[in-house]
Amino acid sequence: MSELKTLVHLQEFDTKIAALETEAVRLPKQIETIHTAVAEAKKAVETVKARLDGARKDLRAREKDLDDIAVKRSKSEARLYEVKTNVEYTAVLTEIETIKGQKAQTEEEILALMERQESLAGEIREAESRLKTRDEQGKREEAVVREKLAAVEKELAGVRGERTTLVSAVPRNVLTDYERILKARGGLAIAPVGASAICGGCRVTIRPQAMQELKAATTLLHCESCGRYLYWQE
Ligand SMILES: [Zn+2]
Repeated sequence: MSELKTLVHLQEFDTKIAALETEAVRLPKQIETIHTAVAEAKKAVETVKARLDGARKDLRAREKDLDDIAVKRSKSEARLYEVKTNVEYTAVLTEIETIKGQKAQTEEEILALMERQESLAGEIREAESRLKTRDEQGKREEAVVREKLAAVEKELAGVRGERTTLVSAVPRNVLTDYERILKARGGLAIAPVGASAICGGCRVTIRPQAMQELKAATTLLHCESCGRYLYWQE
């Protein structure tokens, strides 16, 4: 029966279309993933740059502290000549020792900050190199994916066109039924039945009477369990 053959053919198209549609959705997501990876690499560079800015700001602040400490120290040293008593003199000397301690500590902090700047500059170079690699790799990957996507869309348009032609040969009521089953049954509206007499869609055993009719292929039969159209396939 030609109607049955047409439905089998139609199912082939619809299975193909479903696979292509899945690809047409998946591939743009793949491109998004590539973009995300590049954006992350870019963000990594910016994060380290922000840290370097912070370290520079800290360094300027400590250098300013060092200037303030120097002023404080010369003021204290000048007072050594103004004090009248030994007690006052000792107090100023203690003060100067404290200031010296502050200076040493600030200088240490400055040194550490300079080292930190150097290591951050190295980290930036590494992150930038990673970004460059990721970006180049991303562009190559994206070109491949876009090419695939264009091929999928072209094929999809072709198959949809062929389907439209084929559909015109199917009676309206059969087509409506077919499409309803296709939607309800996970994209499979017509299932093969072989010598084992099992529905290729739901695995239920087909009655001998129905098997005879299937083999004769004189009428459209539905699976009693899943409702799909059935066709005999040796
Ligand atoms: Zn079935």
